[in-house]
Amino acid sequence: MSDTVTSQLPDDVQLHVQTPLIFSAPLSKVANRPVFLKLENTQPSGSFKLRGIGHSCKLAVKNGASHLVCSSGGNAGMATAYSANRLGVKATVFTMDGLPQPVLKKFSDLGSDIHIGGPIWDICDATAKKYIQKMKDEGKTCHYIHPFDSPVVWDGHSTLIHEVVGQLASAGYEEPGAVVTCVGGGGLLAGIAHGMKHVHWDHVPIVAMETYGADSFNKAVKAGKVVKLDEITSCAKTLGALAVCQEVVDLSQKRKITSHLVDDKTAVECCVLFLRDHQFLVEPACGATLAAVYTGKIREYLEEQSPGTSPIVVVICGGATVDIDTLNGLAAKFDIDTKLEKYYPLEQMRL
Ligand SMILES: *Cc1c(COP(=O)(O)O)cnc(C)c1O
Repeated sequence: MSDTVTSQLPDDVQLHVQTPLIFSAPLSKVANRPVFLKLENTQPSGSFKLRGIGHSCKLAVKNGASHLVCSSGGNAGMATAYSANRLGVKATVFTMDGLPQPVLKKFSDLGSDIHIGGPIWDICDATAKKYIQKMKDEGKTCHYIHPFDSPVVWDGHSTLIHEVVGQLASAGYEEPGAVVTCVGGGGLLAGIAHGMKHVHWDHVPIVAMETYGADSFNKAVKAGKVVKLDEITSCAKTLGALAVCQEVVDLSQKRKITSHLVDDKTAVECCVLFLRDHQFLVEPACGATLAAVYTGKIREYLEEQSPGTSPIVVVICGGATVDIDTLNGLAAKFDIDTKLEKYYPLEQMRL
């Protein structure tokens, strides 16, 4: 009898990995309570995006798709390119101007077609949709992958919280005092809020960070509805969707989500501090998240909201579109001292 060879269905290919949750001594010192970092920067594609986008890509391939198209600030595209490579299908990615050459090379190394779709995500998205229409006119079918506004994407992102439950329990904690994240189009925030609902953490506040000039969530929360920005002026381009998805506005009315803003300089400073403190290079989007802790803001906030010693979970969203030259360039532009010994904590955030 011969051995049976079972071919691996695309469905079974593992895309995202379970990421570590680590205790951060330097950040705990600043926050005056335990801070745990959920290291989404260690996903194979460099960011949390692989959870939701990977899930979307798998589902599409299972349903017969052989060509995936994604519009992206960079990381959704990277997750699509990685997934398509692993699933053995074609990917076409429309991303923003200004990505460093080594980042662009990663796309071609993964075998995907990369196009510069425009200066901001909303324009890349329109370009991607035109491409899909053109292919359709030629009789070819492509499957569109939305980078944030899709229940499938939120489901995929929610797995991050499912992992945190067990990881925090192993560290001796039942639940966090707050979960800190950032908001672009709102896919990550929606996934986190959904995950927290699944695990009965609906009462735990979420702190949602953005930068001035990419503040579509902050404006929407204030207005009680989706607000479209005129332009993106922040250097945190991965947060630069002109409008958030409706889902996060609805969530902000159902559960506790506090929206805070930081300026670009602070976000970049926090990337430099994080590189010093944990040897990880992250994007300014992630710097905005980290600013909640480094500026001392979360310490004040929790002293009011959740006195005691419950830990803070900080979602390190990561980002593969930054390289050391980019960070150094931004540090120079904002006149940031890269030694930074003086910073504990940084100046208070402006709200
Ligand atoms: C996409 C992205 C964000 C924002 O996520 P949304 O789901 O668009 O809100 C933040 N950080 C990084 C590194 C990202 O790639």
